[in-house]
Amino acid sequence: MQKPTALVIGAGIGGIATAARLAKNGYDVTVLEKESTPGGRCNQIIREGHRFDIGPTLFLMPEIWEETFAALGERMADHLELQRIDPTYKVHFDDGLQLELTSNIGKMQTQLEKVERTAFTGFLNYMAEGSKHYKMSVEKFVGRNFYNVFEYFSPGNLPLLFKLKALKKHYANTSRFFKDERLKAAFTFQNMYLGLSPYDAPATYSLLQYTELAEGVWYPMGGMYAGIQALVKIAEKLGVKFIYKTAVKKMKEENSTLSLLKRGRIKSAITEDGREFVADIFVGNADLPYIYQELLPKNEESKKLENKLYTCSTIMFYWGVDKEYLQISHHNVFLGGDYKASFDQIFKEHTLPDVPSFYVHAPVRTDKAAAPKGQETLYVLVPVGHLDAHSKQDWEALVKRARETVLRRLAQELGATDLKEHIKFEIVYQPRVWKERFNLAKGAAFGLSHNFWQVGYLRPQNRHKQYKNLFFTGASTHPGTGLPIVLLSARLTTERILKETGTISVQNMVNALAEARAHRLSH
Ligand SMILES: Cc1cc2nc3c(=O)[nH]c(=O)nc-3n(C[C@H](O)[C@H](O)[C@H](O)COP(=O)(O)OP(=O)(O)OC[C@H]3O[C@@H](n4cnc5c(N)ncnc54)[C@H](O)[C@@H]3O)c2cc1C
Repeated sequence: MQKPTALVIGAGIGGIATAARLAKNGYDVTVLEKESTPGGRCNQIIREGHRFDIGPTLFLMPEIWEETFAALGERMADHLELQRIDPTYKVHFDDGLQLELTSNIGKMQTQLEKVERTAFTGFLNYMAEGSKHYKMSVEKFVGRNFYNVFEYFSPGNLPLLFKLKALKKHYANTSRFFKDERLKAAFTFQNMYLGLSPYDAPATYSLLQYTELAEGVWYPMGGMYAGIQALVKIAEKLGVKFIYKTAVKKMKEENSTLSLLKRGRIKSAITEDGREFVADIFVGNADLPYIYQELLPKNEESKKLENKLYTCSTIMFYWGVDKEYLQISHHNVFLGGDYKASFDQIFKEHTLPDVPSFYVHAPVRTDKAAAPKGQETLYVLVPVGHLDAHSKQDWEALVKRARETVLRRLAQELGATDLKEHIKFEIVYQPRVWKERFNLAKGAAFGLSHNFWQVGYLRPQNRHKQYKNLFFTGASTHPGTGLPIVLLSARLTTERILKETGTISVQNMVNALAEARAHRLSH
């Protein structure tokens, strides 16, 4: 019997994991990727012996990664060598306070009580709430599909929205646990991983701080790209064909009477170089708003997407440095200025805050192979507003100001006074690069935002409403952004494809029989 065919557009982590899962379930899968290598935002840059991860640097929620490997018939431990990073990061405040966030409870107590007498009790309660939010979210919201609005707003789910504090703002909720503004900042800035302001993010996201300290922040030796390489290898072993340097330009509808009833299908994808790829089903891994707006015939949905909320963007500096700076930890966060004003400047004015906060990654602390001996590979992430046609955005000037701030604080607070002279080369990314190279709508580095109105069933779903054979996987569809969450997206999209197309592979049947047998034996 001929296998059903699937065409995946994009080899980001979402595209790779979905392709592998589909192949495992009996599909003949081809992936088209515009770049010459896989990985998307989780790609790497190698130059003069320096190895930079482009985007993600925090390997979080290892159990979700583990599940992906297991679903593909592999063990994560056979592919990735994970090192736990603890302290997770060093947080530097511009008044000189430094905090090391760590899973060492005794050390946390000493540090927190120096800042505020009751802060340690607040911290323990905050972690307990984060743990509840994490487990409930993964089980009830993030780790499942919602096939209709009634499933989402069901009598069973509605009380959970309150339990998860989905309607409360994260920053305001933190005030229940800490009084000191710096501590509130230290336990909310992590929202920026989702490209969100803690003043808009639901209080549910205290789950982030819990996962970091309880489940750990990890680093795969070889860099985050090791995760991509492992998944591509497994996908290829399962028969997935990757075709690089092949950008899709348009998706063509099937001409049928069904399209008049607005229930059409996609027939093929046309590439920039004029080739046509026909398949039974299509999976869009490129950013979802971009697919609606640029690859599909225009419809109401693409206009609506324009007005949705988007995450922030970033200015990135990738510095190859010919000297080691041991005072720079693996993960470093520098917070400064008026916390609220800086988020307003990023999310409302779409610019660089007057006093920018930033993050520095120095992988050489853990992985000597990330730079030539005695040298440093530095990655700096400065959050900024996304592209906005209505704001005056002079990116050259903003990049210059961001660079000056970073160098000044590293010199003043860490004594890296000669860093500037030791930078051998610099690569800069800014919102236009995120848009042009990765096709991210508005250059929003983390995709669509995750406020109450853009999560769960309210987020653009992983199946197109009109084209019944078009599915989505990745950061801008359900459940959202971040590598482990995108891995969940790959699982959910695959489950939906198998359910909605009624595909049952031999492997599926074998698994179902094995599960049934295990179940029988356990009773
Ligand atoms: C600066 C930064 C830091 C981050 N830090 C972390 C972190 O520490 N931890 C974490 O877990 N997550 C982090 N993230 C988030 C994480 O990187 C993303 O959520 C995840 O990589 C998104 O994967 P994806 O598969 O959805 O999309 P992408 O990685 O964007 O993949 C989409 C792919 O589609 C391709 N494509 C686009 N258009 C076309 C076309 N027309 N034809 C063919 N191919 C096309 C692109 O080239 C790309 O390869 C970070 C992101 C950024 C930007």
